[in-house]
Amino acid sequence: MLTRRKALAITGAAVGGVAIAGTGAAVLANRDKPEPPSPAAVDGQGRMLWRNWSGIQNAYPAARLAPKDEGELAAGLKAAAAPIRAVGAGHSFTALAATSGTLVSLDAMAGVTGWDGDVATVRAGTRLGALGPALAAKGHAMANLPDINKQSLAGAMATATHGTGQGLKALHGDVVGLTLVTAEGETIECDAVRRPEVFQAAKVSLGALGIVTQVRLATGANRRVRRRVWLEPFEETLGKAEERWRTHRNYEFYAVPFTGLAANITHDETDDPVQAPPPSQDDAFLDALKMLRNTFGWSHGLRKTAAGVLLGGAEEETAVDEGWKLLSTERPVRFNEIEYHLPPETQLEALKAVMAVIEKERPDVFFPIEVRRTAADEAWLSPFQGGARGSVAVHAWYKDEYAFFFDLIEPIFQRAGGRPHWGKLHSLKGQRLNGLYPNWKDFLEVRRTLDPKGRMLNPYLTGLFDLT
Ligand SMILES: Cc1cc2nc3c(=O)[nH]c(=O)nc-3n(C[C@H](O)[C@H](O)[C@H](O)COP(=O)(O)OP(=O)(O)OC[C@H]3O[C@@H](n4cnc5c(N)ncnc54)[C@H](O)[C@@H]3O)c2cc1C
Repeated sequence: MLTRRKALAITGAAVGGVAIAGTGAAVLANRDKPEPPSPAAVDGQGRMLWRNWSGIQNAYPAARLAPKDEGELAAGLKAAAAPIRAVGAGHSFTALAATSGTLVSLDAMAGVTGWDGDVATVRAGTRLGALGPALAAKGHAMANLPDINKQSLAGAMATATHGTGQGLKALHGDVVGLTLVTAEGETIECDAVRRPEVFQAAKVSLGALGIVTQVRLATGANRRVRRRVWLEPFEETLGKAEERWRTHRNYEFYAVPFTGLAANITHDETDDPVQAPPPSQDDAFLDALKMLRNTFGWSHGLRKTAAGVLLGGAEEETAVDEGWKLLSTERPVRFNEIEYHLPPETQLEALKAVMAVIEKERPDVFFPIEVRRTAADEAWLSPFQGGARGSVAVHAWYKDEYAFFFDLIEPIFQRAGGRPHWGKLHSLKGQRLNGLYPNWKDFLEVRRTLDPKGRMLNPYLTGLFDLT
């Protein structure tokens, strides 16, 4: 049998071979694009560059704070130059963390500091990748994880970062209390009872209320899961997706444009012995798709036939291990992304429309479209507030142009009743957001109370919150 890995290796070799042996045009198309221009490492005033993960957000903060405790943070914030912005791992695509004022990192405020039954007290700068082993050491685990685990806990919460699973909430859904230090240096403890309005606003805050320093996080038992990954015809996936969301702990799929295929991934709890995963092929898969684009981008039919022949026979892969080791993976290939969270009943129709428009208008797209489900929660700015949502995410390689996110993709998501992922690219502002979130004005009111001088507002947030 042909494993997916072998199929990918063959695809790479075969498609590369076609390109090399092909016409001058194909060889030319297959050349790698140059790196996008890089801003200066230091600006004219000697300020160091800050960039986000994908490289599209850049800033030169006048000052940087990396406090070791709440006292140092509060003192630093009182004197800090505005705009004051917190940064985690810089993995958001939007300009949430960009500032010419003060950039605050909680990298020195990390680790699990206490337990109350199943509830862990976690310092907010803890990276998700470090949290997994720290919780597992006590036999616990987070209920779910996103695709990667590089984010800080506070950064992930601030944008409503989620994984997939119809019965599983986004990360902030398991937060039962938190500590916030405001720009004025006030420390606030909040939960469902103490300052509940601050709590509902601060679970998903866009970093606009203050600096979250500690989080009380409900955890579950650290269970093993079996991961299955397989390719199948896209139409088959569409027909079976709802049933898979109902029956698997975690289910997601990637619809692969121009191939007629979808990659499906499930995770289910098991007591089976550990089975090591094969080396990740995500890189090889993307390389193969890029080469298919470069070589056959001029012919949808040929591209689909080549993909079907080379990838279609691949065999399922499985792995078994503790959930925190398998749920997140690596993403070494950089990209930009738009993701909207849609009502479940419009999700698959919107996906079909996205696939159709990409296959009609954008032969340059080769990244798979990611499709997930997340359970409801109550946080005021949670896209999952008021009901479960189905997410659809479109990616563009970091060297490729992504303006089509706004012209072609976002209107489909909006017609489907979607809310944007706060950390991913979108064009929505105040009035539109007010119409999507019943507690939008309540959030703005809490914000004004905690930061009356607007010292935490950068131009991006000012635009986002502007109701005029
Ligand atoms: C490769 C990749 C994969 C991704 N996969 C997923 C995924 O599977 N699911 C998903 O939902 N998202 C995903 N994302 C998006 C990502 O999870 C979010 O953008 C997340 O917010 C990034 O966390 P961060 O620590 O990098 O925060 P940053 O991007 O640095 O900051 C995000 C926000 O958090 C605020 N913030 C940071 N620290 C604090 C603090 N201590 N107090 C208050 N506010 C704070 C910042 O001010 C900012 O508003 C992915 C992004 C990338 C690049």
